[in-house]
Amino acid sequence: MMKFRCTVCNYIYDEAKEGREFSILADDWTCPVCNALKIAFVPLAEDREKIPSKQKTVSDVLVEQMAEWGINYVFGIPGTSSLGLVEAIRKNTRIKYYQVRHEQTAAFMASAYGKLTGNIAACLTVAGPGAVNLATGLYDAKLDHAPVLAITGLVKRQLIGPGSFQEIDQHSFFEPICVFNKILMSEDQTTRLITLAIKHALVDRGVSHISVPNDLQKLPHEADVLPMQGRIPNRNILQCDHLIKDAASVINNAKRPVIISGFGAIGQGIKLLQLAEKISSPIATTFRGKGVIDEDNELYVGSHGTIGSTAAAKLVRESDLLIVIGSSFSDMTQIPQKRIIQIDIDPMMIAKNYPVEVGLWGNSAELIPKLTEAEKRMHLEPL
Ligand code: FE
Repeated sequence: MMKFRCTVCNYIYDEAKEGREFSILADDWTCPVCNALKIAFVPLAEDREKIPSKQKTVSDVLVEQMAEWGINYVFGIPGTSSLGLVEAIRKNTRIKYYQVRHEQTAAFMASAYGKLTGNIAACLTVAGPGAVNLATGLYDAKLDHAPVLAITGLVKRQLIGPGSFQEIDQHSFFEPICVFNKILMSEDQTTRLITLAIKHALVDRGVSHISVPNDLQKLPHEADVLPMQGRIPNRNILQCDHLIKDAASVINNAKRPVIISGFGAIGQGIKLLQLAEKISSPIATTFRGKGVIDEDNELYVGSHGTIGSTAAAKLVRESDLLIVIGSSFSDMTQIPQKRIIQIDIDPMMIAKNYPVEVGLWGNSAELIPKLTEAEKRMHLEPL
């Protein structure tokens, strides 16, 4: 029996509890909490590792805990200060290790994996130069709000401070990049610290970093892995009907609304088209939002912004209302200051550049259909 996590809201589908295998659920089955599609779910660990407890090390427990919370991929380069961790990954059948040629690639791979799947992957390097090489890829994850776990080796605990080969102040280096940044200082912190790191990366949508001192990695250690269920909040947020009605009323009174869809509407193409059809609105996307809807649909007018389409630029220029969904208002997208209805899962993105008529904080999977439902009349004006 397996468990699956909704990458949108963190709801956990437990096959044992539900009495039905996840694989036999209909393709149009959606998350009972946030309405996300079935493809938004990722598996958590199915079988724990069978390493005899006497032989277990801190690294074995740490890696086992990572697998339990759904980490299946680690990208990295091995080296002296990370060999204990690399060996634990080798022994763990749940985790696949991909060796790269430069640490920056490992960080970009983990970042891309996080952006495209909503699940979390890890990158692993040695201390010092290997660790700092992660920076560009990790900044990519930070700025695109992708969950990533970075694990780095570190000099032996007794050498932190006095100075040693490849010793730098790793903690300070990673501090501006990370939503969670710690050094594992004793074996009894192992499961607690790694689960907190994954939790922060998933809930705060960013990079978590743990340095593991070399001497600690191979120390014998035994601890029960901590299941994810009951240890992570559900991220489903929904606005009250009053605000949704306010937004619908603004749309009702608009003559030429245009939808601008960002990456935050990924997987919601059909719902987006239903809204667009009802209000006779074209759909433009941001650059990162490309592919959010079927681009052969007649309502799709291309991307908006510096290298966007002429049609999108003209329609947005002539519109009297923009409905912006899941966009970070990048300067590349060049969303102009107009009347705006905005939907975003990150409250700090609402009214980021300009004031909005109505800001709806929450999941687009739930808010788009609610808005469509609340919209009373069809716009009859042809495009
Ligand atoms: Fe969900």
